[in-house]
Amino acid sequence: MSYYNTLIDKGNHSLLTPLLESLSIRSISMSWVDCGFQHIAENQQFLLLEDNVITSNGSLIFDLNSISELQLTTHHDQCCLTLRTLTLRIDQAICQIKLHTHQEANVESILNYLKKEPATEALDFQPASRPTCPCCTEREIRLRKSCHNHPLTRILHMAHELEQPLHIEALHQNTNCSTEVCIQQLEFDNGIAWINAPQPFYLDIASIHGIQLSYRVLDGSHYSSLSIYNSFAEAIYTINVKGKVIYSLWQDCLESRHPAL
Ligand SMILES: [Zn+2]
Repeated sequence: MSYYNTLIDKGNHSLLTPLLESLSIRSISMSWVDCGFQHIAENQQFLLLEDNVITSNGSLIFDLNSISELQLTTHHDQCCLTLRTLTLRIDQAICQIKLHTHQEANVESILNYLKKEPATEALDFQPASRPTCPCCTEREIRLRKSCHNHPLTRILHMAHELEQPLHIEALHQNTNCSTEVCIQQLEFDNGIAWINAPQPFYLDIASIHGIQLSYRVLDGSHYSSLSIYNSFAEAIYTINVKGKVIYSLWQDCLESRHPAL
């Protein structure tokens, strides 16, 4: 396994444009501190629209100028490019791009960009978060011990039982991704819901501080919609289901929430 790392200096982001546009992508995964999605885009290319990097199917958009670090990992014929995005106020996002293996020329150009400086080990590419106040931290610890009564836990169990496709849209400031998933398997560990599906994902139940239920119109169709908020009162993702039938079932889940939550 070989690693090559580079920090992206301010003002150098335009140099990344030809590199990103040349990538032939096998799959993309995105993770934040409160949620993450695997295989959100497969067999895609990146398009650059002003300062936005967009997959050709539109499932992922991120701000080119938010990229702070790049790492290329090669192992036998497998090749993965990892991007870390960061601004001062916003939680980090990690974008992992698996490349098609026939891209020797591609890898060569990435290495040229990274100045061919090998690193001894992989960077700790875990998304980091901002510090929260003591009361919110305490609340999170409590939820990590027991999230089985949380309204979103019940909502996810219901979606699993009803085999209901969920349209999830992550709304972090510099990165935005959307995916449609049908839950095949649902597990909870330390306050995190791990969802097995063709596009697996996780949602950190313990970091949720607010849920808002509403109706939305998307592409001319009506959806029941849940907006999920973090402790900074920022919407972090939405969960949408087509139609209005689920609305009252979700309302029951939210109204019967335990006072401690
Ligand atoms: Zn607090």
